[in-house]
Amino acid sequence: QCAAACPTGAIVVKNDKNKVWEALDDKNAKVTVQIAPAVRVAIGKELGHSNGENTIGKIVAALRRMGFDEIYDTSTGADLTVLEESNEFLKRLEAGDNKMPLFTSCCPAWVNFCEKNYPELLPNVSTCRSPMQMFASVIKEQNKTSSRKPVHVAVMPCTAKKQEAAREEFKVNGDPNVDYVITTQELIQMIKESGIVFADLEPEAVDMPFGTMTGAGVIFGVTGGVTEAVLRRLSSDKSSTSLMSIAYQGVRGMEGVKETKIMFGDRELRIAIVSGLKNAGDLIESIKAGEHYDFVEVMACPGGCVSGAGQPFTSQEEKEKRGKGLYSADKLSNIKRSEENPLMMSLYNGLLKGRVHELLHVHYADSVKEDK
Ligand code: SF4
Repeated sequence: QCAAACPTGAIVVKNDKNKVWEALDDKNAKVTVQIAPAVRVAIGKELGHSNGENTIGKIVAALRRMGFDEIYDTSTGADLTVLEESNEFLKRLEAGDNKMPLFTSCCPAWVNFCEKNYPELLPNVSTCRSPMQMFASVIKEQNKTSSRKPVHVAVMPCTAKKQEAAREEFKVNGDPNVDYVITTQELIQMIKESGIVFADLEPEAVDMPFGTMTGAGVIFGVTGGVTEAVLRRLSSDKSSTSLMSIAYQGVRGMEGVKETKIMFGDRELRIAIVSGLKNAGDLIESIKAGEHYDFVEVMACPGGCVSGAGQPFTSQEEKEKRGKGLYSADKLSNIKRSEENPLMMSLYNGLLKGRVHELLHVHYADSVKEDK
């Protein structure tokens, strides 16, 4: 079995593709899969396309031919994250909470870094599960009465996601919500092993009932994307001009540290966006020395998930093309704000009713206390 090392967390991970093949061969298993935003713009180069090209439709077609029963886009899970994280941010802001700034929580390598180096800051880390884990909770819940054993697979740009999926906090009765995480590279191997000619595939759509997503969810795969999506949600001006002004407010670009200020009512909010753990550490030290921020997005990989350790290795220039590919995908989506995703309303009124905290949140700070 081949192994890969994560440069961000020094985590050694094993290749899970054989386990996924076994699940796909098992007639008693119902195998669902979700595909992270950054995968679609990084997989193509090895399979007859170019870096940055959005190949989500072809990935769906390939997964269907491999035998997956239901195929979903993690961008839908990211829409849930945007709604939950915006609510949490507003609540903390309005309560004058001392657990500010609020740090994002969707990058597991950053959460590990914080747990190890700055445990005192864990109460500031959002209680929102990552898009992968939120979506996995929903998909597993939906399938829990299936006559076949539900098996959920996540295709991620990331090796740290394997460790996240195995955390005790995300197990229900001892079973993880995400049974297997495979990286973009592992999916490329699987496509090649199956003999599918990726370049010849006709693009296909993801499945229902969780088949609607927004541009806000898609841009989660690049540094600044989570912040931009949350700002879209918080903005009271829902015009397209407001969307553009958010985009040009310093949230985009591959720089390791970005800062922006936005007016929220009569209050000026200070926001920092960092990628790379060295930059995160430096920013935390500046906060400890008295610098004030209200919201901080942290991604461990420089440039965000487009540069993840599970993606095919490439140059900085090519990674930037991947980021641009996600912004183009956002531009093409007919819904750009997470709160306008019609699926969200039906989830909150249905499967999530009375269970939002249980299914969508996590308390890393409590886990660290319990370990002691
Ligand atoms: Fe994984 Fe890197 Fe994305 Fe963090 S930034 S979730 S480590 S790919």
